[in-house]
Amino acid sequence: MYRKTWMEIDLDALEYNIRMAKEISGKELIAVVKADGYGMGDLEVVNSALCCGASMMAVSSCDEALILRNKGYEGELLILGHTDPDELPMLAEKGVAVPAYSSSWVSGALQQNCSGLKVHMKVDTGMNRIGFHDSNELNQAIQALKQHGCEVEGIFTHFACADTDESMTARQLERFKTLCESTGHTFRWIHCDNSEATLTLRESFSNACRFGIGMYGITASNEVKLKSPVSMYSTLVYVKQLPAGETIGYGATYETTESEWIGTIPVGYADGLIRMNQGRHLYIDGEYVPIVGRVCMDQTMVRLPRQMKEGSVVELFGSHLPIETMAEELGTIPYEIFCLISERVTRIYTRSGVPVSERNMRMEDSTL
Ligand SMILES: *Cc1c(COP(=O)(O)O)cnc(C)c1O
Repeated sequence: MYRKTWMEIDLDALEYNIRMAKEISGKELIAVVKADGYGMGDLEVVNSALCCGASMMAVSSCDEALILRNKGYEGELLILGHTDPDELPMLAEKGVAVPAYSSSWVSGALQQNCSGLKVHMKVDTGMNRIGFHDSNELNQAIQALKQHGCEVEGIFTHFACADTDESMTARQLERFKTLCESTGHTFRWIHCDNSEATLTLRESFSNACRFGIGMYGITASNEVKLKSPVSMYSTLVYVKQLPAGETIGYGATYETTESEWIGTIPVGYADGLIRMNQGRHLYIDGEYVPIVGRVCMDQTMVRLPRQMKEGSVVELFGSHLPIETMAEELGTIPYEIFCLISERVTRIYTRSGVPVSERNMRMEDSTL
């Protein structure tokens, strides 16, 4: 690793969380690894999930499915979002399952040769994103897909408020049951639980859960204790003392009021540390230090309580700065912070606290 800005993923903790989900749900586990495994590395997360007995991987799009196939993942793979009909023959050939979510999508699909295509019927029970609302349309679609040689192997829906509204979730589940039963079709895969529902709803209608953010230790539940596998660090590379009346960074938005120690860190918004972080605190060597001045593209300045050593590790989030707190301070959710961490940040994977591999932009051998 050259630039000392990195993310650490503790594979033991990650796998603990996945095993926990399997144990609690008692169902098959579909690991949701869209957006490069929420930024943690798609293939790395896939490998951990497989180790823990996951049966299927889910991604957002055709591109993400192909990325995983190109990286050598040959197992069960489901796209969760829209696919263009002209991609379907290729997806059928690669054994990638797709959602059928509306009558118009199905008519587009039927104009292609989608013989052998694996299909999961997506039904909408309240999210109003994609999915069939109407049981007649759903049933006609199933018949038509079957007649054209598709393998209708699954049915699923998505909860809008699994973490905040039990009664809405219960209504969605009822609607899902009704729609599933209206088909009279036997589905190999029936799934509705996202991470939060997997951990807390514990319904017995579905036979698989879609587990995403929970792998990274995020849950609204107080009962289930997950581990926090992800942390991010940089390094104090330059420390200087400034007299009163000096300004810091673009726009000169911060001015020293006395003699102050200022540190520079090689991380910025191009790494995912968005400008909204100005004024928030980072953790260095026992101290919480504020970001002063604007966050630049590649560098950030902090005010130090005393002279601190160049080379000190700076925690951006981790054991001293929970990602949940950071998200709250930024008015967002951990998902968004994770997904914004750019490819430029080296991912280091650890086991028993020891680095075992890394992924970096230089495409160097990743085995340490
Ligand atoms: C992203 C996504 C999930 C995973 O949600 P988590 O809250 O991360 O567990 C599950 N299902 C669908 C349809 C999704 O888009």
